[in-house]
Parts: sequence; structure tokens; C-alpha cells
Amino acid sequence: MSTDVRRLATVLAALLLASLAAAPARAADGTGGPAAGQRIATALRGSPVYVDEAYADAVPPARQRQLAERIRHTGLPIKVVLTPLTKGDAFDGDSDVLAGTVRDRLPEQRELVLITTDGDFPDSLRGFEWPADTHQARDAVAAAGFLEGMRDAGLADLTAKAVDLVAEGRGRQRHEEALETLDGSAPAGARASERPASGPSSNTAGARWLWPLVAVPALALIVLAASTLVRARRTSPAVPQLVFAAARAADETRLRSQAEAEVIALGEATRAADASTPGLQSALDAYATAGKVLDEARGLPDLAGVLALVKEGRDALDGTPGLPLCFFNPLHGAAAHRTAWRPLGRRDRLDVAACQECTDALRNRRAPEVLTDRGEGGRTVPYFEVPAGRSVWAATGYGSLMTVSAGLAQDGRCRS
Ligand SMILES: [Zn+2]
Repeated sequence: MSTDVRRLATVLAALLLASLAAAPARAADGTGGPAAGQRIATALRGSPVYVDEAYADAVPPARQRQLAERIRHTGLPIKVVLTPLTKGDAFDGDSDVLAGTVRDRLPEQRELVLITTDGDFPDSLRGFEWPADTHQARDAVAAAGFLEGMRDAGLADLTAKAVDLVAEGRGRQRHEEALETLDGSAPAGARASERPASGPSSNTAGARWLWPLVAVPALALIVLAASTLVRARRTSPAVPQLVFAAARAADETRLRSQAEAEVIALGEATRAADASTPGLQSALDAYATAGKVLDEARGLPDLAGVLALVKEGRDALDGTPGLPLCFFNPLHGAAAHRTAWRPLGRRDRLDVAACQECTDALRNRRAPEVLTDRGEGGRTVPYFEVPAGRSVWAATGYGSLMTVSAGLAQDGRCRS
């Protein structure tokens, strides 16, 4: 009896720890750097310019005040975040993650233009804005690095120029002009055409301020590493990790039984259907494919794919193809609306189907709750961020971008 009580107490303690750790762990999966993001957002409420200590020499307080004044003159909701980005840091060295995290923590900011350091090219800046394309900020900021006189400019000057170009509102044209003038310059031109949407700067733009950065903050890095270690110890004790794994396994077991039941039910429905039903062959194909994917399913993303295939089979039988499952997380069930959605850091919009909850989240500029998968290096990422060549789920969006049956046929995985 007393051992039972003790066991129960242990389980409860583990669950409590898990619930305490749940919020930051989930944030780290999806958006990254919750504490760092919060600190930056808080600072941005006081001044539109946030400069990390590592850049204090490149953009000293006097220049920061000038930048803030310049931004006020534009009358635009511009904010600047200059912070070093390195793989494995709070934002995993990704300016998209930095921008998204800061944006999420400024919910009162209906409109926002964010100018940040670039994780890929440390001598460059990136532009982001919500709602998208209002001020052509992405192109305007990208153009700043290409402009005559900006090649050797310091970070403060580069940022000031970026603010000016955003305010001018002709970023797209400025960017195109800048690329044209670069035609003779092979390396910068080549890189620009490789990554047209990411706003790269040239090899040398603003490079001068980079050098002190390499030399000076070695001590700061050591301090940072130490504090990161301490933080890691504090927020990820071993037990909750195991509890998370167990919770995901339990979800998977439950989902597997649900998927099995739905495949069986689809099989029964096809057998009960009149032989002249127009969609019968498609339904039978979807049924066969769903069974095959179920047999080989290795996790939630695959099991969600089984549900998407069952939905396609059902729709074929009914002869009334409805919307597919929710793009962001097919486990949310059938979508309620089609909506244009632009992935963070990309220029093109995707036409996706989303459930009511995710649609509401997008309308309120919140991040929808997404199904995750294992990305590069085993990192947990939204399933649609896995390269489409490696994931049929990312390629099809569970029916939003293309039917799962068609995606699997293309993929060749289910060819017999
Ligand atoms: Zn949804």
C-alpha cells in the first residue's frame, strides 16, 4: 500500500515537472528562444531599436538614439533588432525564428515592420512585416545592402539606410535596380539569384563592423555559454523528457488504433457501396494505400497521413470532395476554410485549408498549433518545413497542396 502511494507520488511529481517544463519546451520546438524573445520584446516597448551588447561598439547608444529618432520620423511601426545569430543559440541562428518569436511577443502591435540581423549572412540585414507586403519591407531592407556606398558602411549606417528605404515604400523596385547594377559582379550576383527571396547582401556589404565582433566578445561568449548551461540544467531535467516521450508514445498508440478503425470502416463502406458508384475505384485505391501507409507508419506524421487517405477515400465514395484535413495539423480534423498563408521567410503564398481554430489563429496573427516532425539533424520542426523531397507530408500538406494519393504515387513509395 505504502509503496503504491509512493509510486503514485513519484508519477504525480513527474507530471507536475512535465507541466512546468511543457510551455518552454514546446516553445523551443516551434518558435525558439522564449526568454530571449521576451527580453527583446520588452526592450522594444521602450525603444524601437534593440542592440545586443555584442554590437554596442558598432552601434553605440548615441547612434541607437539617432536610429530611434529616424524611425519616429517615418511614422511607421518599424522596430530594429540587432543581435548575433549563431546555430544552436536561442533562435538557432535563424532570423526567421527571431522575427517570429519577437512578433509573437508583441501581440499589441497590429502592424509591425521588423529589421533584424541575418542569420545566414552576418554582414546583412533582413526585413519582415505584418501584414505582409504593406511596405515592401523585405525587399527594401535587402536593397539597402546593395546600394552604392553601403559596401563598406558600418552596421549603424546600413540600418539607417534600411529604415529610409522602408519609409520610401518602393522596396521592390529598389531591390530590382540594385540587382541589375550588380550584374557585372559575379559572386554577389550569383548569390542574389540563388536566394531571391531571402534578401542577401553582397559579400562585402557592411563587413567592416564584423571584425571587432570576432575579436572582442570572446569573454561574452564564455559567459553566455555558462549561463546557457545553467539555464539548460534548470529547464530540462531528465524526468520530464522521458515523460514527454511517454506522452507522445501514448498519443501515437491512440492515434494508431483510431487510424486502424478508420481504415477498416472505409473498407466496409467500399464493400457496401453500389458497384456503379463513380468514385468507387478511387476509394478502393485510397483504402489500399491507407492500409499500406498504416503498416509502415513510424510516427504521428505517418499516422496522420493514414487519416488523410481515409478522408480522400470517403470523399471519393460520396462524390462530393470536401476540404482536406487541416493543413497545419491534420489531427485537428477536416478543414473549414481555404486561406492564403505565407510561410515565414518566404515570398510566395500557399493556398491551404485550415480548421476554424487555425484560421482564427492566423487572423489574429498567432501561430497555429502545428504537427511536428523530425527535420534536419533530428530537430523537431513543423512537418511542412521538412524538405518536400524527403517528406511526402510536406509535399502534399496532407491534401492542401496536392492529394495524398497523388503525392504518394509521385513519391513511388506505394507503387507495388
Ligand atoms: Zn487546425
